[in-house]
This record gives sequence, C-alpha cells and structure tokens, in this order.
Amino acid sequence: MEMQTVRKEIMGVSFDDVTLEEAVATGEKLAAGPGFSYVVTPNPEIVNMARQAEDYRKILNGAGLVLPDGIGVVHAAKILGTPLKGRVPGIDFASGLVARLAETGGKLFLLGAKPGVAEQAAANLKGRHPTLTICGTHDGYFQDSGPVVEQIKGAGADVVFVCLGAPKQERWMAQHGPETGAHLMVGLGGVLDVYAGNVKRAPAVWQKLGLEWFYRLLRQPSRLGRMAKLPLFLVAAAKEKGRRGRA
Ligand code: UDP
Repeated sequence: MEMQTVRKEIMGVSFDDVTLEEAVATGEKLAAGPGFSYVVTPNPEIVNMARQAEDYRKILNGAGLVLPDGIGVVHAAKILGTPLKGRVPGIDFASGLVARLAETGGKLFLLGAKPGVAEQAAANLKGRHPTLTICGTHDGYFQDSGPVVEQIKGAGADVVFVCLGAPKQERWMAQHGPETGAHLMVGLGGVLDVYAGNVKRAPAVWQKLGLEWFYRLLRQPSRLGRMAKLPLFLVAAAKEKGRRGRA
C-alpha cells in the first residue's frame, strides 16, 4: 500500500505530517531502494538556518522525509494553524529503522562524530540487535570526502547515518549521497554520541512532557546561547501567521 503523506510548510520548510511509526515504515521502504533519498530532522535552529540560506532550504525540502525534531517545530505549526501530529525525534526514527534493518538484513554504515565514537555506537547497537549488519564506520572529521564515499560504496551500505551536525550533514548527504550507492541517508546530529553512551537522553517522563530540550540544557549549559533563539522562533511564527491572516 502506497502511503500518502501530507507536507505542511512551517516557516519555509515543508514537514511530513507523520507519526513515528509512519516515518519508520516510509524509511524502511526507501532503504530497500531503488534510487537514493535522504531524511532530514529539522529543529527550530535548522529551520532558522534555512531562513538565512535559500540553497540550504532547498536541500531540506528536497529530502524524501522531513521530520519535525523538536517541540519548537510542533509549537510553531500550531501557531501557524497547520498543526502536526507530533514531534518525531531523529533518534527515535533511527532506532525504529535499526530494528527494521536487523530484521530485513539491510546494511547500515555509521558516519560522524569524533574518532572512536562510531565504532562504540556500532558495538552497542550490535549488542542490542545481534542480527544487525553494520558494514562500516568513519569519524566525522575528514577533509576529503572522496575516500569516505569510496568506503561507503565498497561496504555496499543500504543506509548511512550521517552525524556531522547541521548544516554540514544535510549538505553532505545531498552532494555526495547519490555517488555512494546507498539507498537512504539520515542526518542525525549528535545521535552517535548517544548510541556510544557518551551523552544521555532525558528520562522518558521529561520526553513525554516535551521538556527534553530543558534536560539537555541542564546537562550542557553551553547550549544556552543556541536555545535562547527558540522563543524568537515562535515569535517569528506568530508574525508569519499574522501576515497570512491579512493576505
Ligand atoms: N561533528 C562531526 N564533524 C564535524 C562537526 C561535528 O562529526 O565537523 C559531530 C560532533 O562530533 C557531534 C555531531 O556532529 O557528534 C553534532 O552534534 P550536535 O550536538 O551539535 O548536534 P545536534 O544533534 O545538536 O544537531
């Protein structure tokens, strides 16, 4: 059955209005090929970057799946009068996809983070899913993309988790993804650090309350500068709503 997903435009970025389960089902289909596509998981910070750079906005909107990562995007959608079903955190999408790949035999490649992190993440994921095939890893601090592309191609990867931080990872997937022979790439920020056990996620209760961002802030106060822009994002959404209302 072909799933029809509705895209809703939030501040210039067109998000797929999907549940986590629907997103994983689509991801699994894309991972099986043919062809190449990539998944982006924009949070308000990424949407703001797209508002400053048209080419980056186009890269986001060119993704096979655009998932609302972060409660800020869900709030903005509500303010704009185009509510989304809910947030789909990139890491939950990744974990759902990993579980499916362990069943189907699809090959996963992990790219990004400091040297050693992707290897540790791979070992932990294998521990959780013994039937999972991780066909290779590479750190995210390379200068030349050529050898990385060759390694992914040689490994025969179906899916690549690209964890280089935004906007680097989205630009990298769009530029180099098709050359790798992989069917699906997913831009996931700091997710390999979480899988490696270096960074802890918020307890489930905090996640349910939509307070994961606050938990991350408490653990990493240096994020405050980045997060201070979030209320401004919602103000911008309210202004946009006002403009649309008058139009
Ligand atoms: N990173 C990388 N190469 C770079 C810059 C960053 O591999 O050139 C990695 C970094 O080590 C971290 C991830 O990208 O694992 C970005 O993490 P961050 O917490 O900034 O991402 P977020 O999830 O907040 O977007």
